[in-house]
Amino acid sequence: MKFLTRLAGFLFLFIVLTLFVPFPSFAAGAVDVTDIRYWSYPEYTRVVISLTDQVEFTQKRLSNPDRLYFDLRQSSINREIKKNISVSNEMLKSVRAGQFDSSTVRVVLDLEKITDYKIVTLEDPVRIIIDIYGKVTFSEKKRIVIDAGHGGHDPGAVGPNKLYEKDVVLDIALKLRELLQKNPNYEIFLTRDKDAFIPLEQRTAIANSKNADLFVSIHANASPNRTAKGIETYMLNWTNDEEAMKVAARENAISLKKMRQMNKKEMDILDIIKSDLSRENKRDESIKLAHYIQKNLVSDLHRDNNHIVDLGVKQALFYVLFGAKMPSVLVEVSFISNPLEEKLLSKDDYRGELARSISAGITKYMLKAPEGQTVARIREDIAP
Ligand SMILES: [Zn+2]
Repeated sequence: MKFLTRLAGFLFLFIVLTLFVPFPSFAAGAVDVTDIRYWSYPEYTRVVISLTDQVEFTQKRLSNPDRLYFDLRQSSINREIKKNISVSNEMLKSVRAGQFDSSTVRVVLDLEKITDYKIVTLEDPVRIIIDIYGKVTFSEKKRIVIDAGHGGHDPGAVGPNKLYEKDVVLDIALKLRELLQKNPNYEIFLTRDKDAFIPLEQRTAIANSKNADLFVSIHANASPNRTAKGIETYMLNWTNDEEAMKVAARENAISLKKMRQMNKKEMDILDIIKSDLSRENKRDESIKLAHYIQKNLVSDLHRDNNHIVDLGVKQALFYVLFGAKMPSVLVEVSFISNPLEEKLLSKDDYRGELARSISAGITKYMLKAPEGQTVARIREDIAP
């Protein structure tokens, strides 16, 4: 009897302990939400929730206003992370996160116009990825203006075998238009599509009037030194480089002396350029665009023509780039004054390769993903 009483006592104690001492792995806050970030792309916006471990979650979409929320079970939100961000793009207004109750973290996505969304959970490190898809509408199309240099009574540089720069660059521009038009997200304009003269200042004016996102001027290089060869891409700025000044003087159809004066900042026109260069982001974006185009030209063409020389990205005061409100560059595709490069420039294949490389450079520039951004400010209201 005594034994049975003792056994009953142990059993009672055991049951009491089991009922009242919680199992550690079910404790609130077992999984930490360590970070929330988003990335914007033209077709979708990606939200990534980073966690210290796998977590069970439920998700629900609610209307008026349209929003999507996730309740992460047995989890807690890291005090250090920021818990509210304004995304403000076509798909997503904002992302909010907070500790909904002692064991639930709630993440709310305030939606704009979306067509679909997808949720994926990845491991190592554990993260929940939410892709929000939107409709890419016509107005969101990127407008690209391609400028074939010279034309009409202005032949541009003339090669030793009488190849005209104006004809070569028009053909490259037409080929480039054909390639870029295959992308439904682009709208392409040419400053000229035939052998016509267009004054330099009218060319950027065309781009500005079209409200273009990019302006790319195509030229062929020339030098009294017949062995000079290679490819270079320019953006608008002052320069101390004598060779760059010579190129700009030739393209501007002015003397080298006048070009040198301009670079000494002695002319009225420089005030215009100064205010123009300070335009938000335009200079940085022009540098990026120039590098994407130059890199593609050199790497693609070097494969088939191993003499191709990379003269790099440079800057000079080109009239044709003055006043452009968008990132703008001038490409010198090869030297028409060099007999070997003139021969290449006369070939349909080589012009096609040049157009393909410039097109690839533009597309790479257009697709570059913006930096990921972290949630910015703590906000208490986490009700969905
Ligand atoms: Zn030219």
